[in-house]
Amino acid sequence: MSEKVKLPIYLDYHSTTPVDPLVLEQMLPYFKEEFGNASSKSHCFGWRAEFAVEKARTQVAKAIGAESSEIVFTSGATESNNAVLIGIAEKYGHLGKHIITSSIEHKCILEAANYLSRKGFDITLLPVNKEGQVEIEEVRKAIRPDTILISVMMANNETGTIQPFKEIGALAKEKNILFHTDAAQAVGKIRINVKEDNIDLLSMSAHKLCGPKGVGALFVRRREPRVVLEPLMHGGGQERGFRSGTLNVPGIVGLGKACEIATEKMDAEISRLSYLRDYLLSELRKELGEVTLNGHPTDRLPQSLNISFPHVASDALVARLKSIAISSTSACMSAASVPSYVLAAMKLSDEVIHGSIRIGLGRFTTQDEVNYAILSIVKAVKEIQANSPTFQRTEARMEQK
Ligand SMILES: *Cc1c(COP(=O)(O)O)cnc(C)c1O
Repeated sequence: MSEKVKLPIYLDYHSTTPVDPLVLEQMLPYFKEEFGNASSKSHCFGWRAEFAVEKARTQVAKAIGAESSEIVFTSGATESNNAVLIGIAEKYGHLGKHIITSSIEHKCILEAANYLSRKGFDITLLPVNKEGQVEIEEVRKAIRPDTILISVMMANNETGTIQPFKEIGALAKEKNILFHTDAAQAVGKIRINVKEDNIDLLSMSAHKLCGPKGVGALFVRRREPRVVLEPLMHGGGQERGFRSGTLNVPGIVGLGKACEIATEKMDAEISRLSYLRDYLLSELRKELGEVTLNGHPTDRLPQSLNISFPHVASDALVARLKSIAISSTSACMSAASVPSYVLAAMKLSDEVIHGSIRIGLGRFTTQDEVNYAILSIVKAVKEIQANSPTFQRTEARMEQK
């Protein structure tokens, strides 16, 4: 088995992804001979860079059903999310000071919201149910006359759970409130149409879809309604004034190509990856019995698996799995010894939270790699459970029955 797979195996695609060689190939000329500044209007170096940027803008727009003039390039989803929360608060703050978001957002949303609450804004953090979903009734209850923005992520980065973004979009439209979604985990993985889904603002990041790090985009609706933001960056007025600064041409070219490839391959990848993921879970259950699935059983990204094993601490498990790169969602935060706030918001038991691991498959994951991962995880879990006094007592009780 191990001759067939190259170790270590990367199964942490939620965290970041390898750059697709086809993406890299498109980018390389823009580091070399095509080095022009896309804002240089007086010569062909600038024109060619601008042409490449505009092509990428069209590719990005197409991936989410937007117009290319609605795409603003940024340094990634952290910047896009900050630009929305702070930019909307500044531009629309005179109409109201209430913003609704959820308790399971990425830190960059939660911390931007925290910053705004220090500046006098009122933030409502929506709860989620046991399956990690915001419920539409909770959104409805949270809306007030002074609500200016609803920001709920499209898919969660720990559980892969897809939020009811279409319903939230429709409700926000009905109530005349702007709707933003952090789609960093969702773009290229599930079908998105900002028009049909009533999305006014959408954040994305290239490195989550086999593109390069440090580049992303923000969709800002231009019609019905025309959305405006106070910019975070002041300067040369690039990106229609929404985001000053010399454009990262190679990165933008990479983001465009990454969007194009992900859109082309989406249907095939949804079936291939969801098959591999479901196979992984069912084999683990066959070998290990009880395995808890954290997150929504069906409304979930096709490549996401967040699971816990009884009497197994995820830190111990991840430490044993040296040739597989996965994440223990609690260890992510273990410097501060804080368990995952996402799983905590789902009100899962402490044991489940401390035992959770996140597996993320992706474009370059193979069946052989999944087979190898199954064998390694089964072996490691059995060893840890064999050394657990509480597990042995439970097993003995079960046998007596
Ligand atoms: C990765 C991620 C981000 C941050 O994106 P960067 O481009 O790395 O700044 C934000 N939100 C979610 C849901 C993410 O998964």
